Amino acid sequence: MKKCEQLYEGKAKKVFLTEDPDILIVDYKDDATAFNGEKKGTIVGKGAINNRMANYIFKQLEKEGVPTHLVEELSDRETAVKRVSIIPLEVIVRNVAAGSFSKRLGISEGTPFEEPTIEFSYKNDELGDPLINDYFARALNLATWEEIEIIKKYAFKINEVLKAFFLKADLKLVDFKIEFGRYHDTIILADEISPDTCRLWDVHTNEKLDKDRFRRDLGNVEEAYNEVMKRLGLN
Ligand code: UDP
Repeated sequence: MKKCEQLYEGKAKKVFLTEDPDILIVDYKDDATAFNGEKKGTIVGKGAINNRMANYIFKQLEKEGVPTHLVEELSDRETAVKRVSIIPLEVIVRNVAAGSFSKRLGISEGTPFEEPTIEFSYKNDELGDPLINDYFARALNLATWEEIEIIKKYAFKINEVLKAFFLKADLKLVDFKIEFGRYHDTIILADEISPDTCRLWDVHTNEKLDKDRFRRDLGNVEEAYNEVMKRLGLN
């Protein structure tokens, strides 16, 4: 697979065209941003970690019947993926209160939920990814009802697979963000699942082992990403 011209550079990845119009190559960077790009930094080694972890998780999800954009890991930081048209929804699944949920609803971080919950944000940097519901998604014509139902079904399925997967590594899956894309006539999981996009806490101590260490200046950011890899047996 050969990299052709760069299609796009995002906050955490570069995306390249290939000779196959259906395939792109993503190249994961060490750059980290938070608060809609206001906070910028570098997490040394993050690109390689997120690439490897996302691919490993996507392979597990495929086995469990969730279609993903993964085609082939090409190197430390590069992966060939199916070229999708991204549905402009950030889909967030939560098991435990944290972050914006805690702030908005006045519920202490760490409070577990009776049942997992889901929310949608409209992917729009200028507006700061505002929280919306599924009816807003229809009003804005971001997805059809059929697509929204498929997205919800996959999101909860992914939550179940990931919860069990991380628990084996003594990690509590607090919440995570995923994105889906349209590929020909199907909806598939795209983007990444990594400590950048999940909240992962040690099951015994609730120590944060994810991007909140960067967002909240908690220190030992690289160490936390490496710890997650080590626990999952991926390094
Ligand atoms: N998240 C993400 N990208 C975003 C916003 C959130 O990957 O642009 C992830 C975040 O890492 C967390 C989950 O989605 O695992 C829920 O984030 P929340 O809505 O609590 O927002 P935050 O507190 O991070 O602003």
